[in-house]
Amino acid sequence: MITEIRPYWKNYIGGKWVDGSEGGRLAVSNPATGQPICEVARGTARDIDTAVAAARACFNSRVLLDMPPHERGALMFRIADELDKAADEIAAVECYDNGKTLANGRGEIPLTQRYLRYYGGMADKLEGRQIPLGAGLLDYTIHAPYGVSAQIVPWNGPLPVGARSIACALVTGNTVVLKSPEDSPLSLFLFAEACERAGVPEGAVNIVCGLGAEAGTALAAHDDIDHIVFTGSVETGKSVLRAAAERVIPCVMELGGKSGGIVFPDADLGQVAASAAAGIFKHAGQICSAGSRLIVHRSVYDEVVSRLVAKAEALSVGPGIDDCDLGPLISARQLDRVEALCRAGVSEGAMLATGGTRVAGLDGYFMAPTVFTDVRPDMRIAQEEFFGPVVVVIPFDTTDEAIAIANGTDYGLAAGLYTRDLTLAHTVADRLVAGQVYVNQWWAGGVETPFGGMKRSGYGREKGQEALLGYVQTKNVGIKL
Ligand code: NAD
Repeated sequence: MITEIRPYWKNYIGGKWVDGSEGGRLAVSNPATGQPICEVARGTARDIDTAVAAARACFNSRVLLDMPPHERGALMFRIADELDKAADEIAAVECYDNGKTLANGRGEIPLTQRYLRYYGGMADKLEGRQIPLGAGLLDYTIHAPYGVSAQIVPWNGPLPVGARSIACALVTGNTVVLKSPEDSPLSLFLFAEACERAGVPEGAVNIVCGLGAEAGTALAAHDDIDHIVFTGSVETGKSVLRAAAERVIPCVMELGGKSGGIVFPDADLGQVAASAAAGIFKHAGQICSAGSRLIVHRSVYDEVVSRLVAKAEALSVGPGIDDCDLGPLISARQLDRVEALCRAGVSEGAMLATGGTRVAGLDGYFMAPTVFTDVRPDMRIAQEEFFGPVVVVIPFDTTDEAIAIANGTDYGLAAGLYTRDLTLAHTVADRLVAGQVYVNQWWAGGVETPFGGMKRSGYGREKGQEALLGYVQTKNVGIKL
């Protein structure tokens, strides 16, 4: 296992590894200790300019566009293969800068490879249509790339989230400038190294780390980008959308969530407890589609709570590199926020069944796995995203009430339900307002299934075949023969 982190990392722009143009550096810390572990070049507006110019030059050169689609696909396969060489280092940096558990850190590599191979395999299968117009006319459509795709990635899953968007962009002939997250930038640098070794053309992929308020705003507002993929919070998403509106460019918006799972009385309660615990405690709840609300029929409420609490209290909490079950939150700020929202829950009258505070005696930003009971749907803890290991359990009496509670937030990323009754499952799935509905297993779905939000959780889809359509625009060609 790698324990030494390289002390300094450069940005990857135009096929070269470069310092910040203004000489600045950003410190990266380990959330499990609070201690700095390395520095990265600080990308500013000037570096974003250089990166966009490199991406534009590459796009205009048509090097990707003129490549037969199957060769663009082969390029994705080569990047995936190259990631094998970096697997140990990727797993380590995911623990050290991101706070992932070792198992999760290791899991990021095959997941990322699957995205690359999935979209690599689709590169030569995105076909246009021929539209009949009658004698003497020929009409067909082309999936044209947008051009330079600007991508902004959050800290919680930078490698797979970044790689899946880059893969969609490249196989459709776009070029990319990606602003990596300042809290956990390292795995995407290793991805850029894999791109370089795989022979990705210079300028096709540019990875710039910088602060959101500096490099992020500069990228979203840049005059020479054609497309934005943003994954992050609703508030930041709104500011990115305002910048995009100025230049009328399309966006894929993957934003936050407050996803609820409904537990009907006939559900397998052992399955419910295991699925609900995984759904909220994986990566300490720092997953956009975490199951942060559990909406439980009153007749099984106490039973579900006691099983869930037992699961929460059985988890080991500590540094991911030590293979604990639950790692830290990303920052002191985020830990303060989660704790403060827990206190708000208590003051609004919710009961803490377990957890509710940081873990005493550990140096990093560790939050105890937390279960709230006696929660009303209008409480702040039932409406606001924690982005931490906190689940609120809300009772219901009728199916209509359960659906109303599940749909009763601003978000619409994911929803779930647990029942053995297929008719009930289909009926409720139809009425839940969410981009994905999980039945009897939180996160049922994967690389192949479209993922994205409704309502304030955003729009556009990543993952699955559908994602590719977010990276192309239809061009119609009509010909008088
Ligand atoms: P964030 O919005 O603070 O930051 C996301 C990215 O945007 C970072 O790279 C950041 O540097 C950049 N950024 C910040 N301010 C910016 C600005 N003004 N202009 C341009 N870029 C800016 O989010 P976060 O804290 O990194 O991530 C957590 C949030 O992301 C949660 O709300 C979570 O639900 C959401 N998320 C959503 C998905 C999804 O697929 N729907 C996936 C992961 C995370």
